[in-house]
Amino acid sequence: MAVDHNAFITEETIDGDPDADGPLAGATVAVKDNISTAGIRTTCGSEMLADYVPPYSATVVERLTDAGATVVGKANMDEFGMGTTTETSAFGPVRNPADPERVPGGSSGGSAAAVAAGEADLALGSDTGGSVRCPAAFCGVVGIKPTYGLVSRYGLIAYANSLEQIGPIASTVEEAAAALDVIAGPDPNDGTTRDLADVEGAAPDASYAAAADGDVDGLTIGIPTELFEGADERVVETVETTIAELEGQGAETTEISLPSVEHAVQAYYVIAMAEASSNLARFDGVRYGHRADSDGNWNESFAETREEGFGAEVKRRILLGTYALSAGYHNKYYEKAQDARAWVRSDFEEAFEDVDVIASPTMPVLPFELGESLDDPLRMYLADANTTPANLANLPAISVPAGQADGLPVGLQVVGPAFDEKTVIRAASAVE
Ligand code: GLN
Repeated sequence: MAVDHNAFITEETIDGDPDADGPLAGATVAVKDNISTAGIRTTCGSEMLADYVPPYSATVVERLTDAGATVVGKANMDEFGMGTTTETSAFGPVRNPADPERVPGGSSGGSAAAVAAGEADLALGSDTGGSVRCPAAFCGVVGIKPTYGLVSRYGLIAYANSLEQIGPIASTVEEAAAALDVIAGPDPNDGTTRDLADVEGAAPDASYAAAADGDVDGLTIGIPTELFEGADERVVETVETTIAELEGQGAETTEISLPSVEHAVQAYYVIAMAEASSNLARFDGVRYGHRADSDGNWNESFAETREEGFGAEVKRRILLGTYALSAGYHNKYYEKAQDARAWVRSDFEEAFEDVDVIASPTMPVLPFELGESLDDPLRMYLADANTTPANLANLPAISVPAGQADGLPVGLQVVGPAFDEKTVIRAASAVE
């Protein structure tokens, strides 16, 4: 019997425009369940929103269906995007199509599993600290986290606004790039989106799909020692072999140092939890979502609603985020994290004076076994060491399959300068 990967929370469709032509006409797409779909429930993987049906669709969904793609379902995910394994979903864990006893990565695990299992041609995920790239790496598919401001977040239910972007997942770099061509671009409903015409050196008219030409001849690739140290040696070996192949194709590699990234994961979790604690305050049982059957006053009803509606990981983060923002601790944690974020950003800026892109393992580990890391949040958080720097610096990043180790997929990550997804896509396409 075929394995049910539990990639979808809801299997309802939104038909694509039948008159559209272009690369996405007739494509099927799985949409992460924190991206709003008019008339189809959008749960964020949470009991809190188990019956929530949005009245409008996210801009990215409108753009995909206008381009002829059909939404085939809402993909399973870690609750509110908080996780690295898709095990915090209130709708049960997702199984990795490469090995059903292992996690697919997270938080967009259902999106990557749907593509890897052939249940959708494309998927949308959201990446706050790696949630597109991690599941792409663990499932052996391609995932792109765009530069902050390239893709509209209108209709994305927020986890940590200053860090996250919606990004495509597909089997090949070219297909992911073609989806990016459709979803990218300014949106009057999201004031943080940028028009590439206003961005210096951004080649606004060239397509992302055309950049997937596999040509790395003359490209300089920085290899940051910090993102290899501490990684599983099987992962390192696979990634180093792939990088040697890129050298064979004419790329030049040079060792670089990004000292700040040693602090990235810590800074990321302080900032992400702080923003989450504020964003999730809107789930009060009054306006939408779950409401406890409470006899109490407003405060009591609020507390009971949240006690029932949120899972353990979400509660942990609301508590830690609230603590980090509270008077007396704000300077100690939140401001320090913002200083570290600025340092990460300037480290990358300096590095990109000498190199075109930066390559490393996407994840320092192979996919966990189901249940292996759920009770060990710190271990789970540390697995985000290589992905979180690009979110802190708001840079474009891609994960592309680099081969296998012990029969499990390994992802290679390429990070580039802001709004230079084309060079990132070019480098990644040479890996395939
Ligand atoms: N694993 C990270 C976290 O739990 C990233 C999640 C994400 O990108 N949504 O916060």
